[in-house]
Amino acid sequence: MHEETLRSVVVLGSTGSVGTQALDVIAARPGGFRVAALAAGGGKVELLARQAAEFGVEAVAVADEAAVPALKDALAAHGARPAVLAGPEGVAEVAAWPCDTVLNGITGALGLTSTLVALEAGRTLALANKESLIIGGPLVKRLAKPGQILPVDSEHSALQQCLWASGPGGHDPDSVKRLVVTASGGPFRGMKRAEMAGVTPEMALAHPTWSMGPVITINSATLVNKGLEVIEAHLLFDLGFDRIEVVVHPQSIIHSMVEYVDGSTIAQASPPDMRLPIALALGHPGRIPGAARAIDWTTAHTWTFEPLDDAAFPSVALARHVGSAGGTAPAVYNAANEACVEVFMRGALPFPAIVDTVAKVVEEHRVTPADSVDEVLAADAWARARAAELTT
Ligand code: MG
Repeated sequence: MHEETLRSVVVLGSTGSVGTQALDVIAARPGGFRVAALAAGGGKVELLARQAAEFGVEAVAVADEAAVPALKDALAAHGARPAVLAGPEGVAEVAAWPCDTVLNGITGALGLTSTLVALEAGRTLALANKESLIIGGPLVKRLAKPGQILPVDSEHSALQQCLWASGPGGHDPDSVKRLVVTASGGPFRGMKRAEMAGVTPEMALAHPTWSMGPVITINSATLVNKGLEVIEAHLLFDLGFDRIEVVVHPQSIIHSMVEYVDGSTIAQASPPDMRLPIALALGHPGRIPGAARAIDWTTAHTWTFEPLDDAAFPSVALARHVGSAGGTAPAVYNAANEACVEVFMRGALPFPAIVDTVAKVVEEHRVTPADSVDEVLAADAWARARAAELTT
């Protein structure tokens, strides 16, 4: 991007994995960006205050109102005086704060309101909170103008880049045969379902290639994350589920591919590093020099691909099912999973029971249209309660 175009950015979930990496990208590009406001859950007020001071932001919000006194103390200690907002309303106010781009790095279904508020306010939305798009599908799609959402998910950033690269005349939707989403396979790749009964939270948190937040790391071990990403790809790129493939690629170098009708496949390759998709979304339509390390071609590489074992990892087929059903079904899949992951992390649920329970909750759910936030959140709450019942 050009140094002279100073872009103002709001970072939601600034103390999380994507949020901190986004601020790294911004800090490395002092002439390129200004951080207008930050929001976080409230569990890391010292880090949030340090970020607010470093970037001289106008406002800071914490979702947890109880964190406000500690945040104010920490801000004073750092000599920062931004407006302090709190609660879900405070986070929503920051999501609508005057700026060019809102990066939504909130984890989970909680991010829905922020996504809707930022879109409504006309901001470019750098979307790391895939759950908001997935659970609020029709609502989000109704609000979003073409190009207003830029995916900050490595696979979807890759798909977007492959589509941009499709031809000199620009992207022709009729030329796309299918999207091929890659999956690392997670730490239990090659295991059969019966072997996963003894998996502990520690084992599931040890991801072979990516360093990410805890929920998405567990979701990568169950491949629920890949299921969510198939729905995300369907919503972002308007292709039917029969034209979205998943292939296991353990090295996580090819981040996804687009196959064209003439037999050509375009792939995007880079070492696994979230700073690249973050930089692409923040710097769009330019590329930020040095945002991430490139592939080192002076050493030998082996890239392998294998089909997904649907029997060992039923989460992806289940996601296709809920994605095709539409309405409140994806919200139920996501919420039941978030609830089950919490129970698993406490050591109170066997690993394979996460997806088994999600499947049960999905099966019991009567799908309704997801035409309002209330409807989505009601389905979300029902699924969490039902998953809690089934896991106690
Ligand atoms: Mg991803």
